[in-house]
Amino acid sequence: MLRITELRLPIDHPPHALPAAAAARLGIAVGDIAAHTVFRRSVDARRTGAPSFIYTVDVTLADANGEAALLAALAGERTVSLTPDTRYRFVGQAPASGLPEAARPLIVGFGPCGIFAALILAQMGFRPIVLERGKEVRERTRDTWGLWRQSTLNPESNVQFGEGGAGTFSDGKLYSQIRDPKHHGRKVLTEFVKAGAPEEILYLAKPHIGTFRLVSMVEAMRREIIELGGEIRFQQRVDSLLFDEPPATASDQPNMRRLRGVRLAGGEEILSRHVVLALGHSARDTFTHLHELGVAMEAKPFSVGFRIEHPQSLIDRARYGRHAGDTRLGAADYKLVHHASNGRTVYSFCMCPGGTVVAATSEEGCVVTNGMSQYSRAERNANSGIVVNVSPEDFGGTPDDPLAGIAFQRRLEAHAFVLGGSTYAAPAQRVGDFLAGRASTTLGGVVPSYKPGVHPTDLSSALPDWAISALREAIPAFERQIKGFSLPDAVLTGVETRTSSPLRLPRGDDLQSVNVRGLYPAGEGAGYAGGILSAAVDGIQVAEALALDLLASGITH
Ligand code: FAD
Repeated sequence: MLRITELRLPIDHPPHALPAAAAARLGIAVGDIAAHTVFRRSVDARRTGAPSFIYTVDVTLADANGEAALLAALAGERTVSLTPDTRYRFVGQAPASGLPEAARPLIVGFGPCGIFAALILAQMGFRPIVLERGKEVRERTRDTWGLWRQSTLNPESNVQFGEGGAGTFSDGKLYSQIRDPKHHGRKVLTEFVKAGAPEEILYLAKPHIGTFRLVSMVEAMRREIIELGGEIRFQQRVDSLLFDEPPATASDQPNMRRLRGVRLAGGEEILSRHVVLALGHSARDTFTHLHELGVAMEAKPFSVGFRIEHPQSLIDRARYGRHAGDTRLGAADYKLVHHASNGRTVYSFCMCPGGTVVAATSEEGCVVTNGMSQYSRAERNANSGIVVNVSPEDFGGTPDDPLAGIAFQRRLEAHAFVLGGSTYAAPAQRVGDFLAGRASTTLGGVVPSYKPGVHPTDLSSALPDWAISALREAIPAFERQIKGFSLPDAVLTGVETRTSSPLRLPRGDDLQSVNVRGLYPAGEGAGYAGGILSAAVDGIQVAEALALDLLASGITH
């Protein structure tokens, strides 16, 4: 097959225009093409000129033997190449005789990372056991709505914790900028389609699924893992690790120890030499336990800020001009960056077109924002995090404390709770008031979507001064790219603190913890991913490393 990139066609092109354009690029007749498939489609919707689709297409020639000659003839044409083989290949298989019970790998956490680690291990025959602190996704949905509708938080079952992990109630954006030489992202998307995602996620440049579909997809993947002999236990929080040697204290900086298993909150011990820790970035209690046990970890940078809401129609107009509202283009998104004069970088984070701002705390007495949408992206407002980078020097507390970032987040979240009136309402401010430095007493034409509600106030104390001044500089600068971005009635809601993990659990080339043999820190919480796709890809990588170690260790039989 031949791959052709950068085929540009108007968004209203008829279907036959695509093979015709491919044939023209190859310098052959359309009849010489036996089949074509779209590998990627992106939208070019700069305001000047009519919007267009840009395709990457894979083409099978009627004369399969003619590919090499055609490629040679087009040697100088950088947009034509051989289609790479992106099929997934397992690194091994469990012995047909089965795996001894004590050799079964454990996966802690059933978010995208844990799901894919478990799925790949199950597909290889390793019958993993998953331990997830939260509930099954449908029960969890009820608990999550408990906070949004009745201001009642369940600290073990919420937006962050439970089957599907943090991305379950989200926009379901499925793109990432990670390096992916082994095409693991393709495996993730293929499995998502098998589980019920629309096929278009395989070729859209910016695919998204939305919340409701994610729920049933997570259930389908759970079923497959169980059918393959895996086990998934909900409401089972891992509180401690078991080692061959007596555990050392954090200050000892122990040398390498060997893992023997895990202890659950209820006291039960489960033995295994191979444990994937896919905890997500909000398992603050577990990180504290792991630190006390001496598991290597270090503070890392992340970002904090607010959510901003505009009418979606304003963003559509700014991005698509007179084509705004064209259903083929969908609700417009944006991606913005501003380098502030105080050295900070302000950027848009997890932009959700046609979505809602959601209450995303997992701790009592805290307010945290994030965004989600349905597949249709049809809600009235566009929302996005507008966040500022923070690094360990900003956290305060003891230097070198790996948990300092968590303490920093918690201070901001607890203060936001108070600013919002101590009811789980979020503090909010009109952009016009924020830029003018005065408190909001009412809100204007943009109706905030955050549930259980917002409290108009002054957000200037919600973040450190340097973050506030960087944001005050960035919002008018963003106006130059998105006309209307600094609309006085646009709404800021605080605080956005869980942008990525505030710490990292370092691991070696074998993807095991640098000081606990058999422990595989993985996904967003361990500092190796930042989103659904990258967390899932990391889950696959860790599953492969674990399987190879299991097979090499000789304990598989
Ligand atoms: P998580 O998904 O956080 O999963 C960790 C799991 O571990 C949780 O289920 C938790 O209950 C469990 N756990 C924690 N501690 C323990 C323990 N001690 N014992 C047992 N289980 C435990 N990303 C995107 O790419 N696109 C988006 O559109 C998007 N939107 C988002 C919207 C919202 C509202 C949120 C909150 C996040 C969004 N994200 C999005 C980010 C994305 O969800 C995360 O990057 C991703 O889920 C990380 O995957 P993970 O598996 O590493 O961790």
